[in-house]
Amino acid sequence: MSSKSEVIDPPHNEDTTDVGETLNDSASSAAVKSNVIVSTSVRELLECPVCLNAMYPPIHQCSNGHTLCSGCKPRVHNRCPTCRHELGNIRCLALEKVAASLDLPCKYQSYGCIGIYPYYSKLKHESQCIYRPYNCPYAGSECTVMGDIPFLVTHLKDDHKVDMHSGSTFNHRYVKSNPQEVENATWMLTVFSCFGQYFCLHFEAFQLGMAPVYIAFLRFMGDDNEAKNYSYSLEVGANGRKMIWQGVPRSIRDSHRKVRDSFDGLIIQRNMALFFSGGDRKELKLRVTGRIWKEH
Ligand SMILES: [Zn+2]
Ligand SMILES: [Zn+2]
Ligand SMILES: [Zn+2]
Ligand SMILES: [Zn+2]
Repeated sequence: MSSKSEVIDPPHNEDTTDVGETLNDSASSAAVKSNVIVSTSVRELLECPVCLNAMYPPIHQCSNGHTLCSGCKPRVHNRCPTCRHELGNIRCLALEKVAASLDLPCKYQSYGCIGIYPYYSKLKHESQCIYRPYNCPYAGSECTVMGDIPFLVTHLKDDHKVDMHSGSTFNHRYVKSNPQEVENATWMLTVFSCFGQYFCLHFEAFQLGMAPVYIAFLRFMGDDNEAKNYSYSLEVGANGRKMIWQGVPRSIRDSHRKVRDSFDGLIIQRNMALFFSGGDRKELKLRVTGRIWKEH
């Protein structure tokens, strides 16, 4: 059965043996089992040997048939990374066509996606798949943890020691003894759970042009289309003055920085913040009250 493959290349080449088996399998029957084998071995064939990513057209090959992705080709100085032969400019049309005929499961299958997609549209789906994991919403440190919402809630609690509150109203006091040091920006995160969902309340100092300001905003731990079902308000004030912000929580798909830089929250100038703090303006003592409600 596999004699065909041995004619093509030396027997030590495992890739070629796979091709032989693959072709035989797909030709022999349309049984589900063989389709699974086909997908697995062809998927391995479609993995670039250099960067290990899935290859997309144009897929290149050397004169011995070793394949390479178009991203890696300019980086190997015209030498095949597998056999060191001159690479030339040969395209592997057959593999490109085999790829086009493949249906593969979304790579977020383990997160619950049951989608099966043609090879060339799989990437696009995965970039928008609603099951793709979220980045950790914690700001102020480079955290690379990713996961679904329940996982991230546990992570925020255990690893970032974030304050957790249940309920849809809040009354939060931000105290900072050195409010002049905006450079050493302060990030504070509190997580609220209500309506069976989780919301992140961010409070931080940043520089808006030349002016030191504080911003408070809410992010929704979930996707944008669900975030739109909620609204929130924030209030801060003292001495008969009050600032009120009403907004729509942003999905944590939008980075913390993106939300901040679009000023989508309650922005308080430092002078005003210190006025609201009372006392001798040496200390920031802001009381922020707020409420989250469901619109639909
Ligand atoms: Zn590559
Ligand atoms: Zn080669
Ligand atoms: Zn998916
Ligand atoms: Zn984290």
